[in-house]
Amino acid sequence: MSQPSPATPQAEIIQLRSRHFFSVPLSLSRFQRRWFLTFPRTYGLPDPDSQRIVCLLNSPDFSATDQHAHRHFWLNPSCRSQRYNPSDSTTKFATLSPLHLLLDSESPVARLTGRIRAERSNDPHDGGKQIACYEVEVMAPNEGLLRQCYYCLSWEGRGAAKTRFSSSGSSDVYWCSSCQEAGWVQSAIRRLRVQDILPWSDVDECPKDNLYSPNKLISTA
Ligand SMILES: [Zn+2]
Repeated sequence: MSQPSPATPQAEIIQLRSRHFFSVPLSLSRFQRRWFLTFPRTYGLPDPDSQRIVCLLNSPDFSATDQHAHRHFWLNPSCRSQRYNPSDSTTKFATLSPLHLLLDSESPVARLTGRIRAERSNDPHDGGKQIACYEVEVMAPNEGLLRQCYYCLSWEGRGAAKTRFSSSGSSDVYWCSSCQEAGWVQSAIRRLRVQDILPWSDVDECPKDNLYSPNKLISTA
């Protein structure tokens, strides 16, 4: 009788622990040229899929090659370090700096290349002035980035399951095991419902954070 073959070891999701964030683990996520600090776990939140993006770290740099952009980005320190609701005029910038959260991790996952350039500030109080942005090289492997399902917008690291999401075929697009089993037609319909695109959508009260369409939740104006 043959023995079952051992499961293929899965890549671990990288975790950043910084004293600037009380050593609460954070993770990195990327969709194409946009990089995000994210929460690798749900921390018992009642609606965890709506609260997984800590902040967007950069504005996409389309002048870089694909190969370079998959490992590097220009960190804009004026990116918001907490979830931002564009319709909430009382939202404040957190004092926590994305630069420190990213670079002062107990286990280094990124470093500065030493290159600096000017970008427009995202802080409305700056009146559009130019500020210094720092090029960051991500040393963590691509497999260590936290993934989100493109179709149902669920995230890895939810509950006890540690199954990683698989590529759905397109660049940087992943799907969970549930959507993978349902197939892309059913999953595409599910995606339209989740994102309130169809008139009979049955969306949750809290919109889910969305790596694939961050401008719906994060102002970069
Ligand atoms: Zn899914």
